[in-house]
Amino acid sequence: MRLRNKPWASEFIADHPEVIIPDPEQHKGQWQQVFGNTNPLHIEVGTGKGQFITGMALQNPNINYIGIELYDSVIVCALENAIEAKSPANLRLLKVNGADLNKYFAKNDVSRVYLNFSDPWPKVRHAKRRLTHEGFLKTYEDVLVDEGEIHFKTDNRGLFEYSLTSISAYGMLLTYVSLDLHANMPEDNIMTEYEEKFSAKGQPIYRLEAKFQLK
Ligand code: SAM
Repeated sequence: MRLRNKPWASEFIADHPEVIIPDPEQHKGQWQQVFGNTNPLHIEVGTGKGQFITGMALQNPNINYIGIELYDSVIVCALENAIEAKSPANLRLLKVNGADLNKYFAKNDVSRVYLNFSDPWPKVRHAKRRLTHEGFLKTYEDVLVDEGEIHFKTDNRGLFEYSLTSISAYGMLLTYVSLDLHANMPEDNIMTEYEEKFSAKGQPIYRLEAKFQLK
């Protein structure tokens, strides 16, 4: 993700606490109160400019969605997307690090984690930063319901192969694997910004679904 300095971003974010939650740790274990219902909560870690999470919120009004992104300069685009979509009641954004999910969510708060076109971190010494590294899987398990799911899409073959291995080694059950998602595009597939960019270049999109198993 190319980062441009946007000095106005932090003020714009602060002006929209109804979308970008300013104090997420206060809602740990109580997200149902934020949404005013008991619908399942799906989160996307590394939401980028937010096309996917906003599209999912509009497509599935009976599911709550939270998009999580590290950078002001990027999440501000997701905020603009959400506002353009008339701020769906089932959508919120958090400007936090996905490595710290258990500061903001309690066990059973989340039913599904989406990872889309996560940064590949190809150098072995950076493996711990990959969002499908064992350390991140443990964090997801800490906040997910029993048998909670991870849904992952990428254009990066190396990261996909690494993720298949990492997820299997963790003891998760792979329930779906595609080496060319767009060859049989599911009707309900919502494209991310990166997915549009890479598929337009003719690159295959890899996708997997996996769930944690009861211990
Ligand atoms: N998901 C979007 C898409 O498919 O178009 C964006 C993909 S972009 C390559 C990856 C995004 O993940 C970047 O915006 C980056 O800032 C964010 N990111 C990376 N590591 C993160 C972390 N630990 N917590 C939250 N966001 C993260």
